[in-house]
Amino acid sequence: MKTNQMQLIFDARSVNECFARVAVAAFLTDLNPTLDELADIKTAVSEAVTNAIIHGYQSKENKVRLYCTVWDNNVEIIVEDDGVGIADVKKAMEPFYTTKPELERSGMGFAFMDAFMDELEVTSKPGVGTKVVMRKRIGAQD
Ligand code: ATP
Ligand code: MG
Repeated sequence: MKTNQMQLIFDARSVNECFARVAVAAFLTDLNPTLDELADIKTAVSEAVTNAIIHGYQSKENKVRLYCTVWDNNVEIIVEDDGVGIADVKKAMEPFYTTKPELERSGMGFAFMDAFMDELEVTSKPGVGTKVVMRKRIGAQD
């Protein structure tokens, strides 16, 4: 299948978490994902977008960029922010690690992205921003 791509640029506001996950789900319709696959992808998108908003931009208004590419049965989703960045990505990705326990975050966002997607790559630079790349193969069971 020919590559198909879309990109979204939206304000870093929590109201847009739902918009982002639904927009990605709608874009994937053509791949005929199962409800489980769709739920996994929507959760992963939500986690990445929420992180960009609350950690990256610390709720200051700015833009989150989301790119979604599909080819054959593959989906690649990139979520990018120009926020504070992460000094130690490896540590940040550990389950239960959070820098915002006071907001009742559980530190499971990256763990969910990792569990629900086939591949997860996080690159970040303090003061510059964070890029999360996630990939999943749809219909892997057949
Ligand atoms: P939860 O996702 O369970 O609500 P959390 O967001 O703290 O809690 P993770 O999503 O796993 O947990 O992220 C771990 C930590 O990585 C965060 O607490 C934060 O310090 C850092 N982090 C994650 N995404 C970003 C980002 N886009 N910009 C800056 N820091 C980030
Ligand atoms: Mg999180």
